[in-house]
Formats: sequence, structure tokens, C-alpha cells
Amino acid sequence: MSELFLDGRWVPAAEGGTRSITCPADGSPVGTVAEATDADTLAAIAAARHAFDDGPWPTTPVRERAALLSRVADVLERETAAIARVEALDTGKRYVEAEYDVADVADVFRHYAAVGADADDLGDRTVDLGREGVVSRVVREPVGVCALVTPWNYPLLQASWKVAPCLLAGNTFVLKPSEITPHSTIALVRALEEAGLPDGVGNLVLGTGPGCGGPLSSDPRVDLVSFTGSLAVGKHLMAQGAATVKKVALELGGKNPNIVFADADREAALDNALTAVFLHSGQVCSAGARLVIEESIAEAFVDELVERARLIRPGLPFDEKAQTGSLTSAAHLGKVEAYVAAGIAEGARLRCGGRRPDDPALAEGFFYLPTVLDRCRSDMAVVQDESFGPVLTVETFTTEDEAVRIANDSIYGLAGAVWTTDDAKADRVAARLRMGTVWLNDFHPYVAQAEWGGYKQSGTGRELGRLGLEEYQETKHVWRNTSPAPSGWWG
Ligand code: NAP
Repeated sequence: MSELFLDGRWVPAAEGGTRSITCPADGSPVGTVAEATDADTLAAIAAARHAFDDGPWPTTPVRERAALLSRVADVLERETAAIARVEALDTGKRYVEAEYDVADVADVFRHYAAVGADADDLGDRTVDLGREGVVSRVVREPVGVCALVTPWNYPLLQASWKVAPCLLAGNTFVLKPSEITPHSTIALVRALEEAGLPDGVGNLVLGTGPGCGGPLSSDPRVDLVSFTGSLAVGKHLMAQGAATVKKVALELGGKNPNIVFADADREAALDNALTAVFLHSGQVCSAGARLVIEESIAEAFVDELVERARLIRPGLPFDEKAQTGSLTSAAHLGKVEAYVAAGIAEGARLRCGGRRPDDPALAEGFFYLPTVLDRCRSDMAVVQDESFGPVLTVETFTTEDEAVRIANDSIYGLAGAVWTTDDAKADRVAARLRMGTVWLNDFHPYVAQAEWGGYKQSGTGRELGRLGLEEYQETKHVWRNTSPAPSGWWG
């Protein structure tokens, strides 16, 4: 059984709780893990607080903290097969996709290791006042104890985007993954342990949000909450954190437009429109789930897209012929089915999918076929809400202005793409999209060097890049008077 990691030791849950994890693709058992309650979370916070206030980590030289991140990357790469295996089994995604995830995650650790490798500090500066007798310095310090809360769609990846910069900056943390996909996060914590992380710096609690997550946003000993997940829970954590004025960084949902102009490279746009929405069965915060396409090419383009979507082959994690996996839980499958039904009831036309596959080998899994709904309008729930499944909605436009208006008609602002061979038009549209990431003639790439995050209700703050490190830093101005003297103010 996998246990909680508190103050440098693997321990059972205080109340002895356990949870069985099953693979959503076929219902097979994956493992048993400890199930924490608030008592365990409070112990984890105490350990992180003690390690921050009294331990060596916050003042360990930046280069040594960076070297630890580099060792973590080494362990992750060495353990790729084992980690990808549990990631695939927990989530129902294909093993090959999980292998990509592990490689991406090692890259994130290597990136932040490189940021700190030759550094004496992480952004300190001296302010040039142009006057004698004063030295004014702005120093960047760790925030303190960080609560890191992650979702089930990319468990390892989302944890790593937080853990790597959090540690480089000198913080301590309590990490809580989704209760249904804990195993790759457990592997990450084992990698931290092997790399030599001091006791109490990194703590892991396993369990449900309601069951063990409360103190993460309410306990005054926590300085920062970094959350990736749904809009509803993000709002809740923000409200909870307000009572003790915590820093709260939110990476929330998206309903992301994929805009295709008539002059786009048709083959590239078609192929990428499939990847945009159907990668990982649409369980991607930045999924291109809204096809916004120029009216003059829409019919033929969508006909061809539907033909190709019908050929996508679902399968089990280790089936080498499979092109997509299952959804990650029964509850989530039910939600996707309900959104498709609501869309049809509101007037959308079902072009393909809209049901589970017939293959008896997949009957025990939470599979849902790639689905295309055309004749959609922006006011439909299936267009506005994040169904987070393999469901593409199609809306059409006739002018550039209309394309921008439709694309921005969302409470979310995470990501979007523009397909056109006219570079000037691409730049014009990109500048008007209210989103944290815009891809021009591409979909999905992200890199550790560039910021990731959302406008509007897709979140606050940024992960990755320079700002992804700054999330985990406080700023202190240190003013030194080098020739103190009475001020003379009082006469
Ligand atoms: P979720 O239901 O909001 O859960 C996210 C995490 O929050 C889980 O670990 C969950 O625990 C925990 N949680 C729930 N209630 C809590 C509470 N009261 N206190 C503390 N923690 C609590 O989201 P999800 O369904 O797992 O993930 C899907 C969502 O994540 C989608 O909306 C997707 O767009 C978003 N996402 C965004 C990004 C991005 O970069 N913007 C990336 C990936 C995913 P339990 O589930 O274990 O109860």
C-alpha cells in the first residue's frame, strides 16, 4: 500500500483510511493508497511550516536547490517506464501518451534547474538612486508554505509545474493530488526523496478535497495556495483563502476556440483540429473544443473531419493500435453524456459519436467515442461550458470581426488557435483574443520557458516561464543608510 509522506517519512493515514484505485479503462485494480483526513493535512502543514521556519531549505544556496531539481529529472528519466505505467493505469490514457508526459515533466525540472544552476540569487537587484549614503536592494524570497492542489487529467505534469519552481524558490509544500489518480504523484515524491530533499520540505497527502483538503486553504500557517482544477473549486479555494489573505494562484478551465479561415492550409488545419479536441479524449484544459470556421469552407471541412473522427480507434492503455484512451471516471463520463444530450436538445446536430463504443473489450471502461456536433450557437451549454470530453462543437462565421467575437464569447480565456496563410490576419486576430495562449497555425504546444495561464475565469497568475517562478516568491525592499544621522525633522 502507498502511504502519505509527512515530515520525511511514509506513514499510514491517522484514522487508518485506505482507498482502492482502479483503472478507468477496464476496472482492473491498480493499487491501494492511504486516505487522509484533515488530521493528516494539519500534520503535513505543521511539518512544512517547521521546515520553512527552522530548516535549512529556504537559505540553501540557489545552486544547490537547482542541483536537486536536476537529480529529480535524472530519477524521473530512469523510472520513465514505471511512472508512465501507473499514470496510464490511473487515468486510462494510452501508455505512449504517459511516456510523453514523463519526458515533459523531466524537461520542466531541467528547465528550472538550469535557471538556478549558475545563480547566486533569483532576481535580486540594486536600485540605482543616484545618491550617496544609501543602498537600496530589492530581494526575492520564498513565499513560505505552499499548498499545491492538482487535478486528475495530467496528474504528474500538473504537480511538476508547481513543485519544480516552488522548490527552486526555497519554499516548502504540502501536495494533494486528485484522489482518483495518485500513483504518479507518489512516484514524483519518491524521486524527490531519492534526490535528497530535506525532511518536511515536501509533504504528500492523499484523499478527497472535502475529506482532507479544507486546511490547505483555511489554515493560517499556509502562505500560498496554487490550484489547478475546476472553476467551481477554484472559486471556493479563493474565498477560503481570503480569510487569511493567502496568495492564491488558480489554473482553471477553458473552452478554447480553434479558428479556421478559408485560406488556411486545409490538410494541416484538419489534422490539427482532430488533435486539438480529441487528444486524451478531450480531457485537456486547453482542448480546442470549439471549431469556429469560415462559412464558405465549413460544410466540406466538417464532412471530412467527421469521416476522420469516426476512424479514431479507442483502446486499452497498452494496446499499441489504440489511438485514444478512456475517460477517467464514471462520473465524468456521465457529465459528458449529459452535455451532448443537452446540446442535441438545444438544436445541435450530432454528426458522429455521441455514445460509447460497441467493442465488448471496452465494455468495462468509461469510453466515449469522438463526437462532433454542428449547427451550434454560442448560447448553448455544450458550447459555453467545459464538457472536458471528446466533444467538438462547430460554429461558423463570415467576417474576421465575427470570428473574434465568437471566439471571445466565453467566461474562459485559457487558449485558442488561428489557422490562416495570411500572417497579418493571424497577428490581428491573435492580438484581439482574450486568452493566455494563442497558437498560430498550430495547436497544443507549450514549453517550460514560456508562461502558461488564463485570462478571465480561466485563472489568476501563471505557471512555467519566469512568472511561473515568481508566483513562488515574495519581494522585499532592503534600504541601507550607510551614513546614518539625525533627520532634523523635529527641529
Ligand atoms: P477539481 O474537481 O476542481 O479538483 C481539482 C483538485 O482539487 C483535486 O485534487 C480535488 O480533490 C481538489 N479539491 C476539490 N475540492 C477541494 C477542497 N474543498 N479543498 C481542497 N482541494 C479540493 O478538478 P478536476 O475535475 O480534478 O480537474 C479538471 C479541471 O481541471 C478542468 O476544469 C480543467 O480545465 C482543469 N485544468 C486546468 C488546467 C490549467 O492549466 N488551466 C490544467 C489541467 C486541468 P479530489 O478530486 O480528490 O476530491
